[in-house]
Amino acid sequence: MSLPEQILAIQSAALEQVTTVGSVRDLEDWRVRYLGRKGELAGAISQLGAVSSDERRAAGQAANGAKAALQEAHSAKLAELKVSAKQDNALDVTLPGIAPVVGGLHLTRHTLYEIIRIFTGMGFTVFETNEVESDEYNFGLLNLPPDHPARDMWDTMYVSDDVVLRTHTSPGQIRAMRQFNPEPLRVILPGKCHRYEAVDASHESMFYQVEGLAVGEGITLASLKGVFEAFAQQMFGSDRKVRFRGSYFPFTEPSVEIDITCNCLGAGCAVCKGTGWLEVSGGGMVHPTVVRNGGYDPDIVSGFAFGMGVERNAMLRHGIDDIRHFYANDLRFLKQFA
Ligand SMILES: [Zn+2]
Repeated sequence: MSLPEQILAIQSAALEQVTTVGSVRDLEDWRVRYLGRKGELAGAISQLGAVSSDERRAAGQAANGAKAALQEAHSAKLAELKVSAKQDNALDVTLPGIAPVVGGLHLTRHTLYEIIRIFTGMGFTVFETNEVESDEYNFGLLNLPPDHPARDMWDTMYVSDDVVLRTHTSPGQIRAMRQFNPEPLRVILPGKCHRYEAVDASHESMFYQVEGLAVGEGITLASLKGVFEAFAQQMFGSDRKVRFRGSYFPFTEPSVEIDITCNCLGAGCAVCKGTGWLEVSGGGMVHPTVVRNGGYDPDIVSGFAFGMGVERNAMLRHGIDDIRHFYANDLRFLKQFA
């Protein structure tokens, strides 16, 4: 068989075989066999130098024709396989996969779950209450009657004259106490809060808080300190210390700001402004009036309460310097924590 005849034979064998190809992988095998660098066509072409010039010319033409025909057959077959895969909705397991977009927890949710995990580990129960509250629960029953000057501590969004978007999770204290009394209780109250205030690096108009409340006989400020120390050490590191500073809230007496030692462990840095301490929470002993409003006798039981921002915890944990990142919906930020 002359070289041009050999090439034509390769072409017709290849064109016959391609009709039986049923998958992309088989098509690739076919391509390698006939059109590959060490394939049959290349093998025939490599013999061009060994034949007479007439035969070489004919063989060269045949080789060009065969190559074009095979490439066209390859493209046509590939297109056909793709169309039929779509039509059958068939899964060609030989095709590379398309990575699905995987969602993740928002940093706030992730941090909230961590806080819940730590407090439930200490025997606290999660108690969720209303995001839209009556003025009475948000303020009145928390020892903040109408016209109390301390109401100015919260810039409030009003739904109507006596209905508000809760400014803090504290109204849940009353609801929890009214449900549990006269039994002792240990709850955390997580939830969304709203403030009518200018948004800046450390203030959002919507944020998450976790309130903690324990009511029973013999509860003291030392109980709060012990609980908070255990929390801080699990949340931020076993070397953290807690300190209380005197403060004022209408619904606790005495009231404290709760600080933990900074990441710099007291050396002083930009985050703690050189003090070595970070404010993470406010709290104190539940005011006797609030204890009574919850249905307990303040002569028999006492309680501690605290409230803290979830975003604030996340910021201190991850070194985030601007709360506005949380709800700007920038995936570049959110993906770092998902
Ligand atoms: Zn520091």
